[in-house]
Amino acid sequence: FELERLGIHDSVDAVFPPSELDAFLADLPVTVEVVDDDGIDACDAVVTRDYHEALLECAWIHSIQAGIDRFPLDDLEANDVVLTNSTGIHDRTIGETVAGYLLAFSRRLHEHVANQQQRRWDRPEWDEAFTLPGTTACVVGTGTLGRGVAETLGALGVRVTGVRRSTDPVPGFEEIYATDDVHAAIGEADFVVVTVPLTDDTEGLFDAAAFDAMREDAYFVNVARGAVVDEPALIDALESDAIEGAALDVFETEPLPEESPLWDLEEVIVTPHCGAFTRDYFRDVGGIVRENVDRLEAGEAFHNRVV
Ligand code: NDP
Repeated sequence: FELERLGIHDSVDAVFPPSELDAFLADLPVTVEVVDDDGIDACDAVVTRDYHEALLECAWIHSIQAGIDRFPLDDLEANDVVLTNSTGIHDRTIGETVAGYLLAFSRRLHEHVANQQQRRWDRPEWDEAFTLPGTTACVVGTGTLGRGVAETLGALGVRVTGVRRSTDPVPGFEEIYATDDVHAAIGEADFVVVTVPLTDDTEGLFDAAAFDAMREDAYFVNVARGAVVDEPALIDALESDAIEGAALDVFETEPLPEESPLWDLEEVIVTPHCGAFTRDYFRDVGGIVRENVDRLEAGEAFHNRVV
């Protein structure tokens, strides 16, 4: 298809100002402009965070997220719409976010911050703080996120194991388990970190049986998608001390409803789906868009093509 007009849908504003990406792409040999829902019609291609039905009329959609679970893949295919995503850019951001969670738990930083809000000089019990070397993290999903987590935690002395659909080795992971053996894999870990895409296979992968398989002193971390976890089962596991705690960036319902027990459970860190935020986000996404505009001009296959 001929690319003349590339829209930047204003839904990207949830992650960065659309004008930043607009300026970053200004030197492309096509018209680039920020559009709202009504402006989608006039575009051949749109960079977006949200799905909108009008996008079915475009030739190419680029999602600024890695997860494509909110896009109707069959409809896109039926309408000959190309979908590309932003996998490949979230290794360091998510890796550092997960390292931050683990350091908060091991050095008790979340507790100190909570105490500070109340001007309380409370020291932890003598045996609450620990250090990370010698601990094991089992990372479920060994793609961009998983590798970024493995690299960052590895540098902190954490032993990292991984779970993927095959048992083929992955750099940075000391041992790899297949998804069928996920309970054995998570059963030996101090930290279980979820980095899989949400698919029919992974929906509800972390259910009551999975939390049973985890150690009672283990922490659960989810930076993937809320629906990979059976949230009531997680809340049960936390309330019954079947696991020690959790750090959660994603939830079944977002924003996390005010009445969710997760807000006030002890040893739970809640972050508002911002684990991959960085002031460089528009540059990272812009790099993929620029590369694909070049590839389109050269008649080459799209990078990160999903549909
Ligand atoms: P990738 O495609 O790079 O990696 C996904 C990995 O998951 C693959 O390596 C794949 O390995 C593995 N996988 C897929 N299905 C299964 C399964 N059934 N069991 C075990 N492993 C499986 O994606 P990213 O790492 O870029 O992103 C992963 C997900 O993280 C996204 O889909 C998104 O939902 C979420 N995300 C969340 C962010 C946040 O802000 N919190 C930011 C970015 C992403 P194999 O093929 O070997 O099985």
